[in-house]
Amino acid sequence: MSEHMTPEEFREHGKQVVDWIADYLATIEDYPVRSRARPGEIRAALPAHPPEQGEPFESVLADLDRVVLPGITHWQHPSFFAYFPANASGPAILGDLLSAGLGVQGMVWATSPACTELETVVVDWLAELLDLPSHFRTDTAGGGVIQDSASSASLVAVLAAIQRAGGRAGDGRRYSIYVSSQTHSSLEKAARIAGIGAEYVRAVDVDPDTLAMDPAQLDALIAEDVAAGVTPALVCATIGTTSTTAIDPVARIGEVCRARGIWLHVDAAYAGVSAVCPELRWINEGVAAFADSYVTNPHKWLLTNFDCSVLWLADRAPLIEALSILPEYLRNAASASGEVIDYRDWQIPLGRRFRALKLWSVIRWYGAEGLRAHVRSGIELAAKFAALVRAHPGFRLLEHHPFSLVCFRPVWPGMSTADANEATLSLLERLNDSGQLYLSHTKVGDEVLLRLAVGAPMTQLRHVQAAWDRIRTEYEQAR
Ligand SMILES: *Cc1c(COP(=O)(O)O)cnc(C)c1O
Repeated sequence: MSEHMTPEEFREHGKQVVDWIADYLATIEDYPVRSRARPGEIRAALPAHPPEQGEPFESVLADLDRVVLPGITHWQHPSFFAYFPANASGPAILGDLLSAGLGVQGMVWATSPACTELETVVVDWLAELLDLPSHFRTDTAGGGVIQDSASSASLVAVLAAIQRAGGRAGDGRRYSIYVSSQTHSSLEKAARIAGIGAEYVRAVDVDPDTLAMDPAQLDALIAEDVAAGVTPALVCATIGTTSTTAIDPVARIGEVCRARGIWLHVDAAYAGVSAVCPELRWINEGVAAFADSYVTNPHKWLLTNFDCSVLWLADRAPLIEALSILPEYLRNAASASGEVIDYRDWQIPLGRRFRALKLWSVIRWYGAEGLRAHVRSGIELAAKFAALVRAHPGFRLLEHHPFSLVCFRPVWPGMSTADANEATLSLLERLNDSGQLYLSHTKVGDEVLLRLAVGAPMTQLRHVQAAWDRIRTEYEQAR
């Protein structure tokens, strides 16, 4: 057992693993969507000490069923409607397996030319599928790169923006970035990591109805900072916020950025991939004219396993200037020739996984048609759910639902807002405890809203209908 697994043993156990996954996916509806594990329960079921002698692989599989599965929240369950559902798919899982099998570390071109060049092709393909501007393509001054998450992508965009604004993180100058109350928290985290400091993250007001950033107030805040000797580095506009899928006016924000020479970063982590459908291309209005960087996550809505986030830049030079570093042990002829891309200069870590394989495998399996069908099905199911909510006098619907997220709240007659929020949250707990579905919540103004996000590939109309029946019944009993 202490020997390496031979290729023949790998073949045998590999088949067992693929069978295990296929069985899991075939029976996933039998599990409670949200894990019922109590804190510490899984840990207590595991040995406190590592084995001295190797064990048969079957023991791992047995413990997977016995110990791990009860602690799993089933993100691929068709009744998983919380956050944004996972977008794992067969071709993506297999692409990831191939990446593990090759064991490649793609830090520079020379460490596996195909890891770099396939990534270049795939991000260019995706830019084409989403009809993103041609200056995001790698054969221009711009280009795309696969990151682990939108958080990392936004962090490197902040670093590139500081670079272009004339400095480097930690150069003693004060930089500011501009977000709204609806911007993802990763931007504030990026500002902290980049040394900007949370106190120089300006929160621009939003329109109380649309929750979209107010470009006039953005301009005013920038003017104040400039007058105070602070250098504005970056504005983040969001297309499809995490909370409610609100959309910032990218073109108008872009005009402010252009006039003042500030980097415009567009965070379309969830919604960006929907532009694979021509009827949704309007969401990117202003991107071609103004965006310096743009991020979207195929792992959120484009059938690709976590992790896969694509960042594009209109000009890659400031990013590479900010992040390039060349120790002697990485010097090589290909890099020196300037003919190749070294993606280590486009990200925080040195090492990088061969993530392009899973995205390549997804795009080839589904084709543009299949990708569009997935997005359209999410939008259609969300619209059907919204119609059910709208028709019920006990519920209020947030009418803005251009994508696959629907926000809504039950009405609790005679209750204060605080009590109504409590009642909504306890309704949510009872629903999630049932194991039959999983929803999450958000807050808009001072009101708690429930969020139902469609997007898991296995979700069908019957799951959405069943979720609604349960929500409605639970509410009617509680009222
Ligand atoms: C989910 C989300 C993020 C964070 O994505 P990660 O890839 O998990 O870092 C950022 N921005 C928006 C708008 C999101 O919805």
